Amino acid sequence: MTASTTWVEGAAGSLFDLDNLPYGVFTPRDSQDGPRVGVRIGDLVLDLAGISEDLWWRSPSLNAFMAAGPAQWAAARAWITEALGDDSHRERTAPHLHPLDAVDLHLPIEIGDYVDFYASLQHASNVGRMFRPDQEPLLPNWKHLPVGYHGRSGTVVPSGTDIVRPCGQRKAPTEDTPTFGPSRRLDIEAELGFVVGVGSALGGRVGTDAFAEHTFGVVGLNDWSARDIQAWEYVPLGPFLGKSFATSISHWVTPLAALDAAWTDLPVQDPQPLDYLRVDRRSGLDIEVEVLLNDTVVSRPPYSSMYWSPAQMLAHTTVNGASVRTGDLWGSGTISGGEPEQRGSFLELSWGGAEPFTVGGVERSFLEDGDTVTLRYTAPGTSGGRIALGEVTGLVLPATEPKQP
Ligand code: CA
Repeated sequence: MTASTTWVEGAAGSLFDLDNLPYGVFTPRDSQDGPRVGVRIGDLVLDLAGISEDLWWRSPSLNAFMAAGPAQWAAARAWITEALGDDSHRERTAPHLHPLDAVDLHLPIEIGDYVDFYASLQHASNVGRMFRPDQEPLLPNWKHLPVGYHGRSGTVVPSGTDIVRPCGQRKAPTEDTPTFGPSRRLDIEAELGFVVGVGSALGGRVGTDAFAEHTFGVVGLNDWSARDIQAWEYVPLGPFLGKSFATSISHWVTPLAALDAAWTDLPVQDPQPLDYLRVDRRSGLDIEVEVLLNDTVVSRPPYSSMYWSPAQMLAHTTVNGASVRTGDLWGSGTISGGEPEQRGSFLELSWGGAEPFTVGGVERSFLEDGDTVTLRYTAPGTSGGRIALGEVTGLVLPATEPKQP
């Protein structure tokens, strides 16, 4: 029996009520304690190391807890729900609650491998039209497998980390040769990230039906992208320096259990994928995304429009026998819906810069120094209301002066 309401002031009915309980890693500013695992309730963090002897809470990452597996995840969620829901635990638990503004939040995961997919039909079609205007927007493989590439896990940074404008080779279509300098087409990609809890064996496969045995939870993810560097370098092997300078994820990891009410029908997949990619129709997630540029909402991409499901992406990652590890992260790819105001990148919102969009009366296309981008996510909660997933924010700083070789 789980409690349905919490004694924590201000939390009941909020986006961080008992039906949410995302995990993060924090340090209380007013203590000598090191980083530890906490769970968010309302605008407070519960120090799990303060009320439980389990060693994985006294850790600078969620990895040890994530590796423990689904039975431990469920058990922890049950006792945390009881501690925050049952008034009899209030006296013992309340001293271990810290206001969010009195803690430092950290990267919650020790990231293993990072893979980024390209699972939105609308995004892939839009980018295909812009990058390859004289060809079919979708390449022939796109509807047969979730396309992805291996990214750079060492540059996954927590929300709030400043993003220095990257430098690199750029060559506009009108230029004969490339030049070196700061990216002129810095962009975002609004995505969700999925985190592996329990790894798999080398040579094994994670079937689509084993998704929940291996996947711990979901983070907000911004795949910062330098479109000019990307467009010049990506042929024929895909993104490299145009993406690897930074990927931001949220401080909070929403456990899959909090998304039980968010599963929804995937869009129809035609042609039907090969057997190893077959899933139940109800494998999509009804998660709404907001993209804010300097505090103004500029787009509302719906995750429910994604063509490939998270279970299909994990199954595809391992179908050749490649293993996954605790802490592995995979990005969904840019979330773009069918309407112009649902596009999850500035590349698409401004149609490659050709059709600037207006924010607060000012025409905008790519990111400028001093811009702040924030991604917010909400989903139906299991108690009938909504829950918020971890938000991701980042401030764009000017490029550092390139050193002459
Ligand atoms: Ca991406």
